Amino acid sequence: MDCIFCKIINKEIPASIVFEDEDVIAFKDRNPIAPAHILVIPKKHISSVADAKKEDSLLMGKLIMTAKKIAEDLKISDKGYKLLMRVGRGGGQEVDHAHLHLLGGAKLAENIHPVSSC
Ligand code: 5GP
Ligand code: ZN
Repeated sequence: MDCIFCKIINKEIPASIVFEDEDVIAFKDRNPIAPAHILVIPKKHISSVADAKKEDSLLMGKLIMTAKKIAEDLKISDKGYKLLMRVGRGGGQEVDHAHLHLLGGAKLAENIHPVSSC
């Protein structure tokens, strides 16, 4: 499958991995928009939240709990952070493997990359 995030999971292309277990992997975004910008993804290829099935509920919830743990480990939790999932092209999703953005380490603007219309 020609999925860049599956290639990161399979260690076919490098990434700066900050957490990994049997279900999820988290790595630094290659083009950070905040001092701390981590992507948390399921190891199972799920194209987007729109394609998640009921049986993926625990896995998708684990993305949030993993981001929470990473925020604590990075010591950005106390000041607050943002969790973001873009869904589909209209939502600004560019990589078709579901991913949760963890953004922190600075006071964040209300909107990230706002677009005029979609
Ligand atoms: P989206 O717009 O789909 O929500 O976000 C995709 C994110 O993936 C972007 O922030 C982009 O910088 C990041 N990204 C895309 N390709 C790679 C890659 O090969 N390595 C890493 N570390 N991040 C990537
Ligand atoms: Zn994938």
